[in-house]
Amino acid sequence: MKENTINALKHISYNGIAPEVLTDCGPLPERDLYEQASKVFNRKFQFRPTAIVFCTLTEHVQQIMELADKLNFKIRVRSGGHDHEGESSGTNTVVIDLSKMVSVSVEKQGAQNIARIQPGIVFQELIPQLTAQGVCIPHGTCGSVGIAGYTMGGGWGPWTRIHGMCCESLIGATIVLGNGSIKQLKEGDELLWALRGGGGMSYGIVTEFVFKAFNMPQNTIKFQVDWNSSPAYEVLKLWETLIAPYNNVALIGTNLKIVAIPRPKDGNFRETVHPCTFYGYYAGKQSELKADMHKWFAELPPSSITIPDDSADATQMKAFDTWDRISAKQILLRMTNRNNLAVNLSELNNSTPLQLQVIPPDIDAPAPYKITSKLVKHGEWGDAGRENLLHTLESDLISLDAIKAGVQCYVTLGAISGSYYQNYKDPGFPKGSAFPYKKRPFTIQYQAWWDVPATTYTESDAADNVNNYSNRAQDWIEECRSFNFPQTSGSFISFKDNAVPTSNYFMESYNKLKTIKEDFSKDPQNRLSTRKTII
Ligand SMILES: Cc1cc2nc3c(=O)[nH]c(=O)nc-3n(C[C@H](O)[C@H](O)[C@H](O)COP(=O)(O)OP(=O)(O)OC[C@H]3O[C@@H](n4cnc5c(N)ncnc54)[C@H](O)[C@@H]3O)c2cc1C
Repeated sequence: MKENTINALKHISYNGIAPEVLTDCGPLPERDLYEQASKVFNRKFQFRPTAIVFCTLTEHVQQIMELADKLNFKIRVRSGGHDHEGESSGTNTVVIDLSKMVSVSVEKQGAQNIARIQPGIVFQELIPQLTAQGVCIPHGTCGSVGIAGYTMGGGWGPWTRIHGMCCESLIGATIVLGNGSIKQLKEGDELLWALRGGGGMSYGIVTEFVFKAFNMPQNTIKFQVDWNSSPAYEVLKLWETLIAPYNNVALIGTNLKIVAIPRPKDGNFRETVHPCTFYGYYAGKQSELKADMHKWFAELPPSSITIPDDSADATQMKAFDTWDRISAKQILLRMTNRNNLAVNLSELNNSTPLQLQVIPPDIDAPAPYKITSKLVKHGEWGDAGRENLLHTLESDLISLDAIKAGVQCYVTLGAISGSYYQNYKDPGFPKGSAFPYKKRPFTIQYQAWWDVPATTYTESDAADNVNNYSNRAQDWIEECRSFNFPQTSGSFISFKDNAVPTSNYFMESYNKLKTIKEDFSKDPQNRLSTRKTII
């Protein structure tokens, strides 16, 4: 059976072009490549696919779908490979890998810029190609994420406040349906509506996305502001004011990170200090940003502000193209160098904040982790919402020993509210998008990462192995997921957590998405299926 499948896959060809096929039963160089290629970003998962097929043409994908029907094998589809639940791979499946389909082109059609983008490209390769032509799309914050899963999941990022989620800019696609037929989607097609935020995989395999691209502003600045000794409650309240729909149009996107801490002995949510980092994306000059910051932070002075030096203005049109991230291993080393390992639980009180300012914005090196998410309800947040959020960020499951061992537990809040959705006029189904959270102020993403490899430890630290803490970090995620939080509802599919029921991701769009899949995906065997797909 496996042999037949592999044999058939190795005979796929179109116009004399064959895709590369990797298996674990070929000659040694192929097996080595297979071992590398079978890894997914979330190292919590390890899969043994029957074969990984690197398609370069839509017709390759088509032929695999036809073979799947004939030989009855399961498929998975992978573009950037950053699915949080590893759903783009699987044991005993054929992985349709699109990472070699990376072409990008931009053309002007009247006043519109049209960008045609293949699914395998990741942001650190895509953005420079777009901005070199003076245009961009609402991309994400992490350079190694793929355009495909990101867009179909909605696509939150630095541009969300002024351009909406990335899926709102999608105006066409080429898709291979369940039976292998190829379809060009355009405005008004139900399937295109579904691809705009209805999640990856469910409706077909996209081999090209068409976006309307916006003209880049003259200046863009990425900045970071840290508070290490102010109550998180105050920081949160301030951040909420800054993202109110009509406030601060130049603040085109932002997220706020609040680190989870061990539960203090005498907790008062309004006073507890958590390390907080405000990441901001600004369209304007440094002088304008500095003047804005002067107003924004007058009442709550930050511990530090990081903005690029003046010469960075010269990098205009390059967008947010610094993707440097720091791994937990580096964090640990830095903490060690600063002798912060001496920090202990007894130091935790409101006057001595945790020394965690070295924790970086994002971690984009592959690592084991678990996340879950919630969305704040429109008009229902207030003090009760803030207190509930901070309640979840103080837990007996968090310990300084775990932090020292490289376990990181925190929340990131991603601003949705801004001029785009404030001015949004629903064009009526099937125009518009399946993204159900247009009126929500922000996302809440709980994250737990435990990615320090054993080699980082010195002998004496060996007892502190990260594995001693990873269960508790995951329990903390479970605690947050099940926390009674009436000021929130729903979950964001791009922050996929398999324990969340699928309908919770799509809310009022869910039933329509099911009907669209049944009526248009031509997939009676439901091959376009993983745990969190629509059916
Ligand atoms: C470090 C990190 C940072 C992130 N930052 C952000 C962020 O700033 N904003 C945000 O919104 N999200 C973010 N995400 C979430 C990310 O957008 C989703 O995980 C997204 O699904 C990843 O897309 P991908 O193509 O890289 O992943 P993949 O694993 O390749 O695919 C994800 C899903 O889409 C399906 N799929 C992939 N390609 C296709 C295709 N061509 N046709 C049909 N189905 C397909 C897969 O089968 C899978 O179900 C981040 C994730 C990580 C790990």
